[in-house]
Amino acid sequence: MLQVIDLHEFLKDERVRCAVKVGSIIRYTMAEFLQNKGFIEIPPVIISPVTDPLAHPIFNGEISYYDNKYYLTRSMIFHKQMALLAFDKIFCFSPNIRLELAEKARTGRHLFEFTQLDLEVKGASREEVMQLAEEMFIEILKRVKECCKPELEKLGRELKIPSRPFKRISFEEAYNEYGKEYEEILSSEAKEPFWIIDFPKWKREFYDREFEDREGWLADMDLIYPEGFGEALSGGEREYKYERIVKRIQDSKMDPKEYFFYLEIAKRGLPPSAGFGIGIERLTRYICGLRDIKYTTPFPKIPGKYCI
Ligand code: AMP
Ligand code: MG
Repeated sequence: MLQVIDLHEFLKDERVRCAVKVGSIIRYTMAEFLQNKGFIEIPPVIISPVTDPLAHPIFNGEISYYDNKYYLTRSMIFHKQMALLAFDKIFCFSPNIRLELAEKARTGRHLFEFTQLDLEVKGASREEVMQLAEEMFIEILKRVKECCKPELEKLGRELKIPSRPFKRISFEEAYNEYGKEYEEILSSEAKEPFWIIDFPKWKREFYDREFEDREGWLADMDLIYPEGFGEALSGGEREYKYERIVKRIQDSKMDPKEYFFYLEIAKRGLPPSAGFGIGIERLTRYICGLRDIKYTTPFPKIPGKYCI
């Protein structure tokens, strides 16, 4: 099977050169912003016996090594929680492998290898990490405007700094008003980024914390880009008590044995926390105003294709 991209042509494309420069400034700004707030950067985990189950269908990404089963990291959610046994605030530029179905190539916002800036804060509330995300987002926009003027000009992108606090809408409200396509519709209509909060259990993974006084609903959130660019980040408060985690795994019709390593650690105690993960390529795509995410990296992994 032929590799789909002519790399010589692709790497000469102005869109790639501009977007990769913008991505570089984004990473630098994120790291600096978080270090200044006392976060510790932890190294990424690439394979592990436990990884994010995800709430949508993908191929598995399994590796066998001396008869032990590993998964390629889909997100570092569990490792973030465990790292808080050592530190109060952590972040990671975490490569994620999500073997997305080929049809996802059409969305313009899916790759099967991408990077999340993933962060987690011990004892934090959802509100606190939402404030942090807003502040970081604005810092990044300002920095890109300052450092990437020629690139933004070439891309014909004019960036406006949004006002804070970003607007919020609950999942229930959004779903009742717009139905299944709520995210696309709201994102297309929006002029500024906004939050969707309080997702139902059936929509999300087992690790987002369920409200004690509102059964079936979660203390979580998504940030959505305007102009139809869709989801920017997902996050929330986490389940951290062993019994509750086991119950949520069972509620999701999964086998707790699959999470043995993680559950053994949770049994001995995990701290309460909140955090989020933001896709760097999607953020770059939004900032650059590109409809196809493939331009944001020199080596895009396009769902369903054979890519170098
Ligand atoms: P999730 O844990 O699925 O909410 O993913 C966290 C963030 O990673 C999302 O909000 C996106 O910004 C980004 N992301 C998720 N899946 C992909 C993908 N297939 N390609 C690129 N970015 C992604
Ligand atoms: Mg998400």
